[in-house]
Amino acid sequence: MSKSDKDGFTTGNLHNDRRDKPEHGVLHKAIHTSVAYSYDDARDLAKVFQGKMPGYNYGRQQNPTVNALQSRITRMEGGLTSTAFATGMAAVGSTLFALLRAGDHVVCSAFLFGNTNSLMNTFRNFGIEVSFVDTTNAENVNAVIQDNTRLVFTETIANPVTQVADLEGIGELCKQHKLIYVVDNTMTSPWLFQPKTVHASFIVNSLTKYIGGHGNALGGMLTDTGLFDWTEFPNILDLYKQGDPAMWGTTQVRKKGLRDFGATLGPEAAHHLAVGSETLPMRMDRASQNAQQLAEFCQAHPHVKRVFFPGLSTHPQYDRAKRLFKKPGAIMSIELADDVDCFDFLNKLRCVVTSSNLGDTRTLAIPVAHTIFFEMGAERRASMGIGDNLIRLSVGIEDIEDLLADFAQALA
Ligand SMILES: *Cc1c(COP(=O)(O)O)cnc(C)c1O
Repeated sequence: MSKSDKDGFTTGNLHNDRRDKPEHGVLHKAIHTSVAYSYDDARDLAKVFQGKMPGYNYGRQQNPTVNALQSRITRMEGGLTSTAFATGMAAVGSTLFALLRAGDHVVCSAFLFGNTNSLMNTFRNFGIEVSFVDTTNAENVNAVIQDNTRLVFTETIANPVTQVADLEGIGELCKQHKLIYVVDNTMTSPWLFQPKTVHASFIVNSLTKYIGGHGNALGGMLTDTGLFDWTEFPNILDLYKQGDPAMWGTTQVRKKGLRDFGATLGPEAAHHLAVGSETLPMRMDRASQNAQQLAEFCQAHPHVKRVFFPGLSTHPQYDRAKRLFKKPGAIMSIELADDVDCFDFLNKLRCVVTSSNLGDTRTLAIPVAHTIFFEMGAERRASMGIGDNLIRLSVGIEDIEDLLADFAQALA
């Protein structure tokens, strides 16, 4: 049995569960469905509740199957520890809920995932100030930092126009101003990019997308990189200022976020996500490669007006994406020519599926303005560069010849 932390990304991932002496020598961590845990000595139960002894008390807070998945993702991200949630949104929402207070100020990307954008607006109703800025340039973040700024939130590659954030520049700023730096790594996944390298404090991954990878289970993960100094952060309750200060933030998220809000990841979903995660590098490499070829094909096609993909040399952050990410990812958008009806185009596709998800093994396409970004209205859409004929593609791992043929016939 390998116990070496020197194992590569995939080797370590595949054998991670076995290192923890699993029951009966099983290769997969078992799906533990028990909600409660028993103790022979009642004093031990008390110690677990008081945080004086590691152990399980109740399924809303901890579960062995979920813990195994947390340990895998921590390894993938090179982090200190991770906390799983029922969905990616639960991870984002519970974290902000646990760490922010009325009167705080948050800076976030103006090109956020639609539901995260909506959530940020909800926090405004609870007395938290939110500034939306173009995070492709750290100067825009710097310009809005105030005394009460506590946290900066950005995604690596934005959806659907694929802007690549100034991840290094914002990391420097956060370090300098002692701000919590949250990077949503969903679009890149830890295989293409590790936000710890740009000094992120927390990393969010929607496991529903590339890490699970098959569109068959929801999940979210918050990974603490251990880089943030919690001793100077004003919102940590005295109750949680115990033990290693590196854990204070995560402790508060686990108590106030996971325990009190209760958006817990279930063991069955954790199992599906863990199995899916085993092939993350292979899927991501193949999908990225397919996306590159498809982007080049679409860019040369007369019925496509514009292609948004960080792997094209015409992309405004092409150099940055190349420097930071192993590959440019598999999310791209195409703006069809004005005389092409986007619904007719989608209906003609044979192997590409019209669907809202992303990060599946199958290629998925969605008319953005009419669906996932419909609720925010035409004005905000225009400001985000989202036209009515924009199609977002989550490129899958099909044979590239079939994808190119499908696009060729649907665009003809
Ligand atoms: C999908 C997604 C989320 C939310 O994840 P769910 O698991 O669907 O809740 C958050 N951020 C990004 C970038 C996403 O694509």
